[in-house]
Amino acid sequence: MITNTVALLGMAERGGFAIGAFNVYNLEGTLAVVGAAEEAASPAILQIMAESISREGRPLASTCLEAASSASVPIAVHLDHSSSRDEIERWLESGLKSVMADGSHLEFEANMEFTRDIAEMVHYNDGVVEAELGRLTGAEDGLTVPEYEAKLTDPTQAGDFVAHTGADALAVCIGNVHGRYRSEPRLDFERLEAIRDVVSAPLVLHGASGLDEDLVRRSIELGVRKFNVNTEVRAAYIDSLAESFSATESPELVVVMERAVDAMQSLVAAKMRLFGSASD
Ligand SMILES: [Zn+2]
Repeated sequence: MITNTVALLGMAERGGFAIGAFNVYNLEGTLAVVGAAEEAASPAILQIMAESISREGRPLASTCLEAASSASVPIAVHLDHSSSRDEIERWLESGLKSVMADGSHLEFEANMEFTRDIAEMVHYNDGVVEAELGRLTGAEDGLTVPEYEAKLTDPTQAGDFVAHTGADALAVCIGNVHGRYRSEPRLDFERLEAIRDVVSAPLVLHGASGLDEDLVRRSIELGVRKFNVNTEVRAAYIDSLAESFSATESPELVVVMERAVDAMQSLVAAKMRLFGSASD
């Protein structure tokens, strides 16, 4: 059944767990996430990158909305990392009621104004908004310590930011990175705790691919209610395709797709168990 992100995050808050938000790029990814959610009796978020929706458009959005509606467990559909007011407005009209308004490339004040403006529009359309404070990098390499720290979420700004913007969830930067971690992931839990003390909205951690059980557990204890997982699901898909096409006989395409769905589905179901959202 289709539901909204705030309802899911509320469910996670009450249950002391987190929801997995998995980026999908096509039908196989969508089937894998919904299949995993049904297998693990878990809620989930189907997440579409702004970049992929600008290429694949309405068919991809419709695929996700239809898959969520016909699922036997609660599923929300979320637009990930959009910095464009027009884009967000267009997709709200097409039924994507959960969006990330990403103003993290802007200075603090400008990010606050951008996010507040989008939040007003989204709330007017009965939607929900995730915002980001700080700036998530692909990897921290090449930055000096002060440069790196300047990109982390500042707990002294976080309370005002959420109160002023009306954001329904806040993505934090505490050492998490997009893509693969080049060394052992290290999360700044002191910072996370300080953010949680001033922000009552649910917290979101992007770059959850590669986080082990201890890091995930501690993050949940400190208020993270949504983990974004992209890299690992994408890798499961690509590895499965590579394996199918490296066989000496060229396989049937339906078999190739089925294997790819299975590979992503087992990865996603394992994440749901790790995040505590599974009830199987
Ligand atoms: Zn992200």
